[in-house]
Amino acid sequence: TAPTTPLRARAEVDLAALRANVRTLRARASGAAVMAVVKSDAYGHGAVPCARAAVEAGATWLGTATPEEAFALRAAGLDGRVMCWLWTPGGPWREAIDAGLDLGVSGMWALREIVEAARGARAPARVQLKADTGLGRNGCQPGEDWAALVAEALRAEADGLVRVTGLWSHFACADEPGHPSIAAQLTLFREMVAYAEGRGVRPEVRHIANSPATLTLPESHFDLVRTGIAVYGISPSPEVGSSAELGLRPVMTLSASVALVKHVPGGHGVGYGHHYVTPGATTLGLVPVGYADGIPRHASGTGPVLVDGKWRTVAGRVAMDQFVVDLGGDEPEAGTRAVLFGPGEGGEPTAEDWAQAAGTIAYEIVTRIGTRVPRVHV
Ligand code: PLP
Repeated sequence: TAPTTPLRARAEVDLAALRANVRTLRARASGAAVMAVVKSDAYGHGAVPCARAAVEAGATWLGTATPEEAFALRAAGLDGRVMCWLWTPGGPWREAIDAGLDLGVSGMWALREIVEAARGARAPARVQLKADTGLGRNGCQPGEDWAALVAEALRAEADGLVRVTGLWSHFACADEPGHPSIAAQLTLFREMVAYAEGRGVRPEVRHIANSPATLTLPESHFDLVRTGIAVYGISPSPEVGSSAELGLRPVMTLSASVALVKHVPGGHGVGYGHHYVTPGATTLGLVPVGYADGIPRHASGTGPVLVDGKWRTVAGRVAMDQFVVDLGGDEPEAGTRAVLFGPGEGGEPTAEDWAQAAGTIAYEIVTRIGTRVPRVHV
């Protein structure tokens, strides 16, 4: 359906920029295939349109956390390789097998449930065994646990119930280039892959690289890179470089329509708790988005907004639906667009600026933009 032009607030999603980012990542991936990670509604950008654009630009895999996210891609007609990795006991295994998903497997209980679900299925379940090489989150521990998981997977493969399509892992500190855990994880990953292959596993893909590893560590690329944040044009961390330095174009522009401009005297408290008091007579502008829309309350007093060519700062607290900026006596008309963040090319702040203002990471800034803010794909 054609996008409307939402008056209160909107998140414009520049799919041409997203396609350019995917092409950039392909060029940096040492010939490895590119997975566009589109979990969490494509980091807040809209899963289906972003997945389609990523595929158009040459991403041959899509990645999600939950199976529901993967089913939504299938329902939209995305019929290429889709991998999902966040499972809980009793998950919709049979539906996932029938949908031809690649299933990330972190431990024995999951593999056993998959094997049961695969009995009588049209095709073997595609499983990708995940090694915990040091993240300490999901993934199978090295040593006996890995040996047992590999053995069980090979038995199920021999029975025609599963096909081990991948061996994979995930970095803990790739966004801090040079961190000693990176080399240690790579070494352990190679060992765990070699063990599995030595026992007879023949994976189509071996993969460990996320966006920062894709951008900084060619030896981590193997057969596939799983890129999320970089697809959306955002740098994984300042240490990896700015988006501009990395040749990435931020995809989302969040703006709102100034809802009210008014004159107030000096000494006027602004917002809950009066955390801002006007230093002198001034004008205040009301920006009609708040923490219910994902604007971090931690950016109270610090979040930057471009209004009429000037950076303004959130004055006082961010409330549920609105916040105020001190316009310093300027009188833009109500309806003027306030740009919270975008690519930065028009002088506006970026999601990375908001992350700094709120003491968080840009991943959280874009992912938390609420469903009340329409995404307008352009
Ligand atoms: N792979 C897995 C398993 C993930 O959970 C994520 C996201 O956190 C990614 C890849 C993509 O990471 P990034 O957004 O840093 O590229």
